[in-house]
Amino acid sequence: MKKPFIAGNWKMFKTIDEAKNLVQTIKAGIGKLHDCQIVICPPYTALCEISKLLQDSHLELGAQNMHPETEGAFTGEISPLMLKDVKCRYVILGHSERRQYFGESNAFINEKIKTALKYSLIPIICVGETLAQREARTQFEIVKQQMDESLKDISKDEMMRTVIAYEPVWAIGTGQTATPEQAEQMQSYIRRLLNEMYGKEVAGRIPILYGGSVKPDNIALLIQKPNIDGALVGGASLKGENFVQIIMNAQSQIEAGLQS
Ligand code: PEP
Repeated sequence: MKKPFIAGNWKMFKTIDEAKNLVQTIKAGIGKLHDCQIVICPPYTALCEISKLLQDSHLELGAQNMHPETEGAFTGEISPLMLKDVKCRYVILGHSERRQYFGESNAFINEKIKTALKYSLIPIICVGETLAQREARTQFEIVKQQMDESLKDISKDEMMRTVIAYEPVWAIGTGQTATPEQAEQMQSYIRRLLNEMYGKEVAGRIPILYGGSVKPDNIALLIQKPNIDGALVGGASLKGENFVQIIMNAQSQIEAGLQS
């Protein structure tokens, strides 16, 4: 049975107290549900406190970004060792907001992925086209280039420890979700690329998430598609009730699919 993988990206929101309240709401809301893989990615300032709160739960901790060096004169950056220090297991890399506002290239993202893997952090690698690229019908080319360049020299074994998130930039924070068919079309393409690059076994094991305006009322149709293994959720992960409802709806849809 597919185990839904739902990650929440809190972006630059939440003070420490707000973050702690949000985690308590999520923990209470999901109760003993263990059939879902759930990752939360708070801002850096809250990582340490949230890490303590997650010790008795199966929720996992992720960061939203990371520098490829382990230490050095990189003012304002955070290193993989620091993330390990607060017990992060995951790190989001290549998010479109990093690409767009901080000029991150595929080559730089590739360096980060390699370091994350070296220090046993699981990268959630984001790819996706802009609206202009989709309108120019270059979305497949763009995603292929992002995959080729950001996964350069990553071995099969390393690739087994990654997660891919397809996030069309035009759907992020806009309320305009990709249709389940649009998402599935790209995600089956990504699965094919992984197959060509790493073979069937690896391609079949890597979770491919969809991200872009996921909400409680659209997750069910998305998750029922064969190549949508879960979701990377931004805005809707900032409200505990919404995030919990997304998890519950994903889980129920998978159980319903099994019975039908
Ligand atoms: C994101 O930031 O990764 C994201 C998908 O945001 P939203 O859900 O708000 O579109």
